[in-house]
Amino acid sequence: MTTLEIRDLHVDVAQTDADAEPIHILKGVNLTVKSGETHAIMGPNGSGKSTLSYAIAGHPKYQVTSGSITLDGEDVLEMSVDERARAGLFLAMQYPVEVPGVSMSNFLRTAATAVRGEAPKLRHWVKETKEAMTALDIDPSFSERSVNEGFSGGEKKRHEILQLDLLKPKIAILDETDSGLDVDALRVVSEGVNRYKEQENGGILLITHYTRILRYIKPDYVHVFVNGRVVESAGPELADELEENGYERFTSAAKAG
Ligand code: ADP
Ligand code: MG
Ligand code: MG
Repeated sequence: MTTLEIRDLHVDVAQTDADAEPIHILKGVNLTVKSGETHAIMGPNGSGKSTLSYAIAGHPKYQVTSGSITLDGEDVLEMSVDERARAGLFLAMQYPVEVPGVSMSNFLRTAATAVRGEAPKLRHWVKETKEAMTALDIDPSFSERSVNEGFSGGEKKRHEILQLDLLKPKIAILDETDSGLDVDALRVVSEGVNRYKEQENGGILLITHYTRILRYIKPDYVHVFVNGRVVESAGPELADELEENGYERFTSAAKAG
């Protein structure tokens, strides 16, 4: 049983212009995610959802100014990005990074070696990756292509789930993994997430803009995220309300203070 606990988290983001003041984005986030639980975070564009995922993963541009993140009581904020991955945290990014010159197969094996603490046995690894790629409808030729280079939006997202499948984290943060997917890709990606959930009893933080993916991945909890904070938490029925009425009720309440 693993618990990711986020308490009163405040995060600034450094601006590209180094002389400019950092911007205060997260304003006191509280959230607890446990093994086997799926939490959907829904909120308007620019509310800070990706900032939250980057802060958990340890992106250097995102400065935690106060509050805490712990994994089973261990201080995540004290860990390097690598240590966070080894501790069992995984982030599927909203905009996966292209890494020209590094093949997918090399990248995946290096990542698996780092997370598992030893290189996977080659024969076993080949079988494992092949099965995972087949399940995600990824052509074998992708193994030799550079990481995400020239991939379509949907191909990038499927590769994020391929990493999820192979790295088997304890807690997975999926940042808008559904955006830009057509119906077939959405189904394939969702099935991959559900397999992870069943096989690893993983905890999932599913960040999304749309309720569409929640027809495939059933959340236990739905959180509304507005203006750098969780402003409401409830069961799956909250997603239905959002589908119907949008975020208006929450954004106007946030503005009113
Ligand atoms: P969301 O994922 O909910 O759409 P983000 O976390 O991406 O929101 O962004 C929240 C706010 O922080 C936005 O106003 C965005 O412009 C700003 N922001 C995020 N990252 C950066 C950055 N690296 N530099 C400048 N502003 C940023
Ligand atoms: Mg956005
Ligand atoms: Mg985002």
